[in-house]
Amino acid sequence: MPTGAFVYQGSPQRVVFGVGTLATVRNEVDRLGIRRALVISTAEQQNTAEVLANTLGKTCAAVFAGARMHTPTNVTDEAMALVKDKRADGTVAVGGGSATGLGKAIALRTDLPQIVVPTTYAGSESTNLLGETQDSRKTTKRDPKILPEVVIYDVDLTLTLPVKLSVTSGMNAIAHAVEGLYAKDGNPILSLMAEEGIRALARALPEIVRDAADGDARTDALYGAWLCGVVLGSTTAALHHKLCHILGGSFNLPHAETHAVVLPHAVAYNERSAPEAMARVARGLGAKSAADGLFSLAERTGAPTMLSELGMPETAIDRAADLAVEQPFWNPRPLEHEAIRKLIDDAWRGRRPNR
Ligand code: NAD
Repeated sequence: MPTGAFVYQGSPQRVVFGVGTLATVRNEVDRLGIRRALVISTAEQQNTAEVLANTLGKTCAAVFAGARMHTPTNVTDEAMALVKDKRADGTVAVGGGSATGLGKAIALRTDLPQIVVPTTYAGSESTNLLGETQDSRKTTKRDPKILPEVVIYDVDLTLTLPVKLSVTSGMNAIAHAVEGLYAKDGNPILSLMAEEGIRALARALPEIVRDAADGDARTDALYGAWLCGVVLGSTTAALHHKLCHILGGSFNLPHAETHAVVLPHAVAYNERSAPEAMARVARGLGAKSAADGLFSLAERTGAPTMLSELGMPETAIDRAADLAVEQPFWNPRPLEHEAIRKLIDDAWRGRRPNR
């Protein structure tokens, strides 16, 4: 495509954003014609799911509070049995990417309509991507059936998100925007959204660390997370997301924390090959450089900065580097085994990038 040309495809998803918006869920369920909703959450958020089920009244057929991280297929099989038994005709998932993932997995198998009420900043609700795990292998599927029809963002539900998870989940969201800025299928509208998403999160996360109940900061963060999620859903991610996928899937590292640690290093790797994108990242962060600005944000907000802290053994560094170059994919800087090994080694030890 000639320079300056682009393709833009708007998402068909309906988004309701605000404070107290959970009250609209009954209306949204009716709009989709759902009569027998399955409400989905993790075990930790069962109470929130029960509150939602009460709001739905008779329109709720059952609650399934067994969603787990990385969408294990045996959990989906269990939920599918309930869908059949209760003749559910739609799902309402409340929670982070784990609850959303289960709603998506059911939609992929049944094409039932989905409503998602996100309570983290992971951004899964805005994508047609599903990562499923079977026998310790995580595979990613992309399908129009996976994209939820409606998202209800209620700032109130994010107030209980622990500070540590708020920060790492926020860094996870920023990662979506960063990779969208240099994606080969990006466009100027998505770049605006990405820079604004980074700005909103970089402003909000330190405020949330100061006061987790700060409604304005929580609103800013959730708004930023939405923008970043849309960018992820509209572009093809590169080295950063691939590395996190490998590290999470192969060494069972926690999702948001892994993103937080790897991001400054993946950005340092790509910094010289994507100067315009990196200038926008730095501007969004209010920093001189993208990689250094991201590392400073992690330090300032108490996010983890070492893969060793997340339980990755040192012996896994070589294996991770091998896996990263095993199947070629597009990245602004070509994949160089030695440099990627150094990137992972730096992230494992928590070195400041570019030093
Ligand atoms: P999560 O959904 O696993 O949530 C982590 C924990 O925090 C859970 O116990 C959850 O119940 C709890 N929690 C969430 N919100 C809370 C709140 N407001 N108050 C109190 N507790 C709360 O974590 P996540 O990082 O949101 O999601 C990770 C999963 O999402 C991974 O499986 C990842 O692969 C997937 N994901 C997928 C995509 C995609 O596009 N397919 C994008 C991002 C993440």
